[in-house]
Formats: sequence, C-alpha cells, structure tokens
Amino acid sequence: MTDIANISTLDRASVLHPFTQLKDFASGKAGDPTIVTGGKGVRIQDATGRELIDGFAGLYCVNIGYGRTEVADAISRQAHQLAYYHTYAAHTTDELAILADRLVRMAPGKASKVFFGMSGSDANETQAKLVWYYNNLRGLPKKKKIISRQRGYHGCSVFSGSLTGMSFYHDHMDLPYGGVLHTGSPHYYWNAETGEDEEAFSRRRAAELNALIEREGPETVGAFIAEPVLGTGGITPPPAGYWREIQAVLRRHDVLLIADEVICGFGRTGAPFGSHLYGMEPDLVTVAKGLTSGYVPLSGAIVSEKVFKVMEDGADRVGSFSHGYTYSGHPIAAAAANAVLDICEKENLTEHARTTGAYLQRQMAAAFSQLDIVGEVRGVGMMSALEFVADRSTKARFDPSLKVAARISQAARDRGLIARAMPHGDILGFAPPLVMTEAEVDDMIAIASAAVRQVMDELA
Ligand code: PLP
Repeated sequence: MTDIANISTLDRASVLHPFTQLKDFASGKAGDPTIVTGGKGVRIQDATGRELIDGFAGLYCVNIGYGRTEVADAISRQAHQLAYYHTYAAHTTDELAILADRLVRMAPGKASKVFFGMSGSDANETQAKLVWYYNNLRGLPKKKKIISRQRGYHGCSVFSGSLTGMSFYHDHMDLPYGGVLHTGSPHYYWNAETGEDEEAFSRRRAAELNALIEREGPETVGAFIAEPVLGTGGITPPPAGYWREIQAVLRRHDVLLIADEVICGFGRTGAPFGSHLYGMEPDLVTVAKGLTSGYVPLSGAIVSEKVFKVMEDGADRVGSFSHGYTYSGHPIAAAAANAVLDICEKENLTEHARTTGAYLQRQMAAAFSQLDIVGEVRGVGMMSALEFVADRSTKARFDPSLKVAARISQAARDRGLIARAMPHGDILGFAPPLVMTEAEVDDMIAIASAAVRQVMDELA
C-alpha cells in the first residue's frame, strides 16, 4: 500500500513538476499530488484506489492501453540479455536494426534512415540540425531558417520550444531563439474571414507562407515544420486543401517539409501516419509517443532518401556524422517499440482507430454540437476537441478568469474521466488509447457531457 501522506510530502518537497503552479503546489493550496499506482486498458488507478478513464492516453501516447504484459516481457528480456550499449561508431543491437527497418518501411515519404533519441523535443532538435547540415553540405549556408505555425507544438527544449508557436511556452524563458519564423495557424474556425470557405482559407494560408518565404528570401529558408493535425494548439484537423496548397509552396522554394508525427503517428488519425491521411510527402518525419506507447522513452528523426543522399555524398568531405546521444537507440527502448508495433499489427489498431474514431467523432457531435457554450466540435480518428465560447453567434470568448475548460476538466475528473483542458483557450481535448471500445467511448462521453452541463449550470 502506498503511504499517501509520506509520498505527497516527499514529492512536494523535492519534485519540480512540469506545467504546475509552483507556489500553490508547494504550499498545499493546490491539493495533494495525484499518485498514480496502476493502469489497465483505458483506465488508470490512483493511490486511493480510485479508477479514472484516461481520455488522453497519458499525453496522447498510451495507444495500446495500460498494463500490456507483452511489452513488459520484452523490456525484461532485453534488460536481462543486454540492458545497454551505445550506437556510436556503427554499434547496434538486434532489436534496434529490426525496429529501424520497420520504421523505414512504414514511414511516409521515401524514408531511408532513422536517428533515435528519447523524446519528441530532442528529435525535433535533431531535425533542425539535419536541415542545417543538409544545406551546408549542399553549399547553401544561408538556407537555415525554419518556419513553424502559430499554435504548432514541437516540444519544450531550446530550439524545439522556439519552434512551438504559443507564447505561453516562451514567456519568461527567453524563447524563441533566432532562426525561427512563425506563420498563421490552420484553424479555420478562428481565422477564416467572412464568406471564406475552407479551400479559400487554405489558399490564403499558402499565399501568406509564400509571401513570408519571399520576404525573407528563399535562399534563407531551409524547412517548414508542422503537425499533420495541430495537437496541443487545439486538436485541429487541417482545412480542406491545406496540405496540397502548402506543399506546392514548399516545393516552389526548395524548402524541406518536416512532418511532426509525434501525436499523429502510429494510427491515431485512423491512418498509419497523419501524412498518409493528408497526402503529405515529408522529407523528414518526427516520431515519439506512440512508437513505444509511452512505455519507455524513445523518439526517431526519420530521414528521407533525398536528404540522406546529400549526407552520404558529403561524408568524404566532412567526416563522420557528429551528432548523437548516450541513449540513441537504447536497446530496451527498441525492444519495447518492437513489442508495441507487434501489438499494433496483430490487433490492427490503425483500422480500429479508424472505425472507433469515426464513432467517437459522430458521438461527440451528437452530444455537444447543439450546446450553447460549444462553438466547435472537431477532430479526426481518436482525437477530438470541444471549443467553448460565451456566444456561438459572435464567437465571443469567455472571460479567461472564469477558467471554463479547466473547470469542466475538473468536473470530469471528479466523475472519473481525464479529459485535458488544453493550454491555449477554452478547449477540452480527448485523445484516448487507440484500444478504446465503442462502449468505453460511450462511457467517456456520458461523463464529459455531465461535466459540461454542470459547468453550464454554474455559468447560467
Ligand atoms: N511534437 C509534438 C507534435 C508533440 O505533441 C510533442 C509533445 O506533446 C512533442 C513534439 C514533444 O515531445 P516530448 O514531450 O516527448 O519532448
């Protein structure tokens, strides 16, 4: 049995928690930490014995659900055989080589190689270095700027945090760093002009991107990074025609496309990768989260043939590729990833996400789209969001001090559901494990519905 009081005291005294109000937590005003002790399927359990449906799969990562012993066994087998060796200077392990081959075969674009890291953030740092390396080797030393989008999320490290397009992640931390440009968010609901349909909005966003590249000078712009579906910025699928229009601009200016598939990869959208769903042909692909379903940390920067060819051709001139981490290609993480991908294949989880995802989208729309405080119900596959507004006809936002989404999230939690109040706006996000059944979707939506109605009544 967990000694709740003792663990809470130790935690409060010693852990620096991400995204936590430090003073309120340290003083106890924000209550005790939630001590998570177990998980099975789509549910986690806390130290008081309480079960919660995890409508956010941890942080959009536990795609195969909790408590899969196949993965624990694979981790244990590898730990007993060889817990660690590095991958510098052409060292490898069975599990790693097999995993890399799998990823190259399943990734979108014409993939050639995988560089392994530990997190989505470090994989995007690697992508930036790859862009700079690629253009140095091509003799284009000025072609280095990277464009991302307002409300895009690409991580929290120094450069990936700079790519992230939300000031909330920059303020008081001296970000963004140089060499990053931001272009407009693809969110149609908030950004479309009167009378502008989705295709026209996509064309406008592409024209703005084109203008930005021309203003900066195409010879200075190396890459564009984006999530196929905007994730932490609001779980927002792209408007119709968006990726067709954007990719035409990138090709025109010889600008690489980095698809940040950290959330969308491995089935979450109902396609193998978000890039497949939207006809994207990326030059670089970032993967993490679903790769191991979060069971251990692992990420990958997947490099296309086009980019790798330049790296290979340049090797005689520049020597070895001088980038790597102690834990790049960690054998335990590789073994876990192979076990996770085995489950995804055996249980056809992408197809399951497609059909259950379609059910989720239908039921979300049925439950919420008519409510007075819901401006938009959106999503694709197994990710969905509710956008709350004070007035549907004018799209007036709630006063932020009312903390509408946070209160709804808390009301859901009180009823046994984790749904995330997204960091930017009054948005409640859902990204459950891909193994969730239709009956569990019903349970999730019933709780969310009660929570929304409770806060609606409080606001009335
Ligand atoms: N890219 C995307 C699209 C993400 O959603 C995230 C995390 O949520 C990251 C990158 C950063 O990943 P990590 O938190 O593992 O560093």
